Amino acid sequence: MEIACLDLEGVLIPEVWIGVAEKTGIDDLRATTRDIPDYDALMRQRLAILKNNNLGIGIIQDVIGEMDPLDGAPEFLDWLRENFQVVILSDTFYEFAEPFMRKLGWPALFCHHLDIAKDGRITDYRLRMDDHKREAVRAMQSLNFKTIATGDSYNDTNMLAEADCGILFRAPDNVIAEFPDFQVTNSFDELQAAFIAASQALRD
Ligand SMILES: [Mg+2]
Repeated sequence: MEIACLDLEGVLIPEVWIGVAEKTGIDDLRATTRDIPDYDALMRQRLAILKNNNLGIGIIQDVIGEMDPLDGAPEFLDWLRENFQVVILSDTFYEFAEPFMRKLGWPALFCHHLDIAKDGRITDYRLRMDDHKREAVRAMQSLNFKTIATGDSYNDTNMLAEADCGILFRAPDNVIAEFPDFQVTNSFDELQAAFIAASQALRD
């Protein structure tokens, strides 16, 4: 039995911060891990923008509540869970994720926490641990599981490299160019086929 390690945003759900940028009209919030490889720099920038615009957790939860999983994502996840053990490894926050987890049938999710003041301001963020996606893959391998990982961005590439098989899904051209060793998929049909092939290869 292999464990499927899935990124969340860009694979199963839209980019939350792009949704927030569109709802608030603040273009500077459009930057994501696809654009800025340094996650701490990206989060510091986001929190500063929220603070400067007096935006708290409330508006972000409103946006997230209105968002749906990507087309085909729930069906793909259902198929995956029938055939693999599935863990979602995400750099999002539990405070953001609940509406999506409900729509996806409550899969296992490893992510991070936000610090939120009583008035709703987001005062800081707390990574559960550094490079947790890669560390999670390592931990599963130490339990004698094979791992197949999928993600779309810079914050996934360590996980993809550590896994027994790493697959890019709908990755931007700059990520594909910098990491030419990973298989590239662009639809859930292709991704499903890639999981079947990877699983077969790991058993041979
Ligand atoms: Mg992503």
